[in-house]
Amino acid sequence: MTRATKTPKLDSVGAEAVDDARAALLDLVPEGDVGEHLSSVAESGKVVTHLFECSKLGYRGWRWSVTVARAPRQKTVTVDEVVLLPGDDAVLAPEWVPYRERIRPGDLGPGDLLPTEEDDPRLVPAFLAGDDLDDLDDLDSHAVEAVTDELGFGRVRVLSAEGRELAAERWYEGSHGPEASIAQSAPAPCESCGFLLKIAGPIGRLFGVCANAFANDDGRVVSMDHGCGAHSEVRLGKKNLPTPLPEPALDTMRWEDLETF
Ligand code: SF4
Repeated sequence: MTRATKTPKLDSVGAEAVDDARAALLDLVPEGDVGEHLSSVAESGKVVTHLFECSKLGYRGWRWSVTVARAPRQKTVTVDEVVLLPGDDAVLAPEWVPYRERIRPGDLGPGDLLPTEEDDPRLVPAFLAGDDLDDLDDLDSHAVEAVTDELGFGRVRVLSAEGRELAAERWYEGSHGPEASIAQSAPAPCESCGFLLKIAGPIGRLFGVCANAFANDDGRVVSMDHGCGAHSEVRLGKKNLPTPLPEPALDTMRWEDLETF
């Protein structure tokens, strides 16, 4: 059950102290920046806020707010605070968004650094990172390094299942997935294309890398059910072949022939 909030009663002495409020305001800001008295708002008990129009350039819709208070059984007010507040139609800056939420692919320039959080859920520690391989002989050491590198254990952190899932979703739903318009009208999917490079690991069941220099997706990860008109097995049908040129017309007339006329 919600309890109805009681509107505080406007203190009459505080409400009449418009001149005191304006004087306190003019102690702090130039007279030209202060406009009409707009309203008096009861805050609580004997506390009243007076709002004045702000005529400062660039502050359309903002209001000077001067709060006055009166002690019990006193006939004069004291000034609590003077602030500039936005009104309903004030021009405000858009809500601030932390850079981490603002950053988009392509924002990173040469030399820029974008550190990843220690607890980034897209990454997990690679448990064998930093293992001392000095105790193994050369052959064993190379064999272990090859396996750990292949599995991603040669790095401090590797992609987590969540990181892999997020990447797969992003790639699948983007312009390199089956919904892309180029894929919708493709003659066959990437899965059967000779230009598709296979990716190792579980993600390789869904994606590969396009290696066709003439395809729009060259060098990009594409889903198996993506596709394009540069598929390796595309052949032109009769209706796609260029219209044959007419027989050439041979001009047999030579200079000598002309002279005989
Ligand atoms: S050429 Fe086209 S069909 Fe072949 S892999 Fe690249 S995008 Fe897929």
